[in-house]
Parts: sequence; C-alpha cells; structure tokens
Amino acid sequence: MKPVDFAWHLPKSVPEAVALLGALPNARLLAGGQSLVPMLNFRIAAPDHLIDLNAIDALRFIELRGDILAIGAMTTQRDIERSELVRQYCPLLSAAIAHVGHQQTRNRGTIGGSLCHLDPSAELPVVAAALDPMLVIAGANRERRLRFRSFPAGYLSNSLVPGELVTSIEFPILPECGRGAFVEVARRPADFAIVAVAAQLVMNGTRVRSARIAIGGLAASPMRVEDIEDMIIGKELDEAFLAGAHSCAASLPAEGDSLNPAHYRQRLAGVLTRRALAGAA
Ligand SMILES: Cc1cc2nc3c(=O)[nH]c(=O)nc-3n(C[C@H](O)[C@H](O)[C@H](O)COP(=O)(O)OP(=O)(O)OC[C@H]3O[C@@H](n4cnc5c(N)ncnc54)[C@H](O)[C@@H]3O)c2cc1C
Repeated sequence: MKPVDFAWHLPKSVPEAVALLGALPNARLLAGGQSLVPMLNFRIAAPDHLIDLNAIDALRFIELRGDILAIGAMTTQRDIERSELVRQYCPLLSAAIAHVGHQQTRNRGTIGGSLCHLDPSAELPVVAAALDPMLVIAGANRERRLRFRSFPAGYLSNSLVPGELVTSIEFPILPECGRGAFVEVARRPADFAIVAVAAQLVMNGTRVRSARIAIGGLAASPMRVEDIEDMIIGKELDEAFLAGAHSCAASLPAEGDSLNPAHYRQRLAGVLTRRALAGAA
C-alpha cells in the first residue's frame, strides 16, 4: 500500500520543529522512519503533515557530561553501536544495540525514535527501563525533564503531550566496578525480541552493591523488576541466588499471543534473567 497524501516539512532547529508541531494539525514527527514509514504504508498512521527531524544536526550527538552520558534523540543506532564512549560508559546500551534490527535499519533508526515508538518487543526500551535515563523534552513554552520510568503510557504509547518532542536522553554512567549484560531470545537474528532481559550490576568485591534489572516482552512496556533487585543486593550471586532470581522472574505476570503464549514468555523470562545476572556478575 501507499501512504495517504501528506505535506513534508524539514525544520533546521528544535524551536522551528516545535513551532511546526504546534501550528500544524494532525502532524507526526519523522526520525529514522524505520517504524513510522511501514506504518504509513500500511495506513496505520495517516498524518496530514510529516515533520522530518533529519536536518536538525543539534539532535545528533554523544557526549560525556560529568556523571551522565547524553545522547541526542536523532543519534542513529549505528552511531551508538560504533561509539567508544557508549562502550565505555554505558556498556549495557552497547550490548543491546547489536540486537536491534539489521545494520541497514540501524543506519537510519534513532535512539529517540525507538524510545518514543515503544514497541513492546524492542530492545532499547528494555535498557532504558533498567537504567532509567532522563529524557529531555522540548515543548511550546518550556523544556521539561522526565525519567524514563514515567514515559511509557500503554501499548505503543508514550506520555508526551501534543506539541512535544524528545531532544536527548541522559544515561547515568556506570561506576568502574559496574557490569552489564543484555540477553534475548528472538526467532531469528535481528528480529524483535520475544523476551529480553537487561541487567546491570555494581559489585563490591564478589557481592552485589546495586542492581538494575528490566525485562521486555512480558507486557505492553518493559518492566523493571525491583523484587529481584532487592533480593540480590548485598548477596553473592551464587547458584542459590541465581535459582531464586530465575523462579521470581518466571512467576511474573505475562501477556501472550498466538505465537508466544504467556507461559512460554514466563519461562524465557526466568532463563534469561538467570543468564543476564550470571553474565553481568
Ligand atoms: C526490518 C526491520 C527490523 C527491525 N528490527 C528491530 C528490532 O529487532 N528491534 C527494535 O527495537 N527495532 C527494530 N526495528 C525498528 C527500528 O529500530 C526503528 O528504528 C525504531 O523502532 C524507530 O526509530 P526511528 O528513528 O526509525 O523512528 P521513526 O520510525 O521515524 O518514528 C517512530 C515513532 O517515534 C516518533 N518519534 C521519533 N522521534 C521522536 C522524537 N525525537 N520525539 C518524539 N517522537 C518521536 C515518531 O513520530 C513515530 O511515531 C526494525 C525495523 C525494521 C524496518
């Protein structure tokens, strides 16, 4: 199918994009187009105006700013994959990004697009659920900042209000004794995950000082599993704890579909949580 007719706009700055968003009825932002263009072609989305963010260079950067790693919303997944800064200061993001689609889709797809689209099987929202970065949001009269935990608003929905766009994402950087692991099961390499687990541990010797664990694929949005985090903090990650984390994750509520029923997703959640914790430890 072909998309319905739309007018295309190419703002050169964030204020210009925000002004267009406020002024144009039924407008939609275009980032890498790797989710939106198929939706246009299937007419799942039928905007009258597309506001293309690709000419706003100020939205494309990866910068270390004190204790945060700031990434512009229009930074491509490929730039993140190749970034030494991301590898060094946000290894969980590095580990996850290689699972996102194909090199061709990562060349165009952006971190902002992925987090705003919020596909329940997408990898980057799982990392964001674990690390809880700050989203910087531009709107008509103000900039606001929102933790990722408050961002998802149901299936494929976020909590931006009309007229807003995400400009950057600020990840807390990992202390030297921190480690991360991202594991998933997908039907084929480069497919969306059926279930994915992101785990970041900060160790104190052989004991866990702090833990951040998130699971995607069980519900409309990825969930942070603080019960498991609380269970392992201060403990050595031995066989008994891995088994406990496994059974806790496997008993989380899950939504299934005809291909991957809930009990299968729960089973994957258990196995992958164990693997992610063992990998991070
Ligand atoms: C063949 C194929 C395989 C793929 N496999 C995977 C996969 O395995 N895992 C995975 O996670 N993804 C996968 N994807 C999706 C891909 O990662 C997309 O890049 C991503 O979901 C959306 O990013 P985008 O930059 O392309 O955004 P777009 O498609 O341009 O936009 C997506 C949505 O976000 C909104 N949006 C974009 N940027 C902003 C912003 N800054 N502020 C507010 N709203 C914004 C848009 O209006 C739109 O509603 C795949 C895509 C294809 C085509």
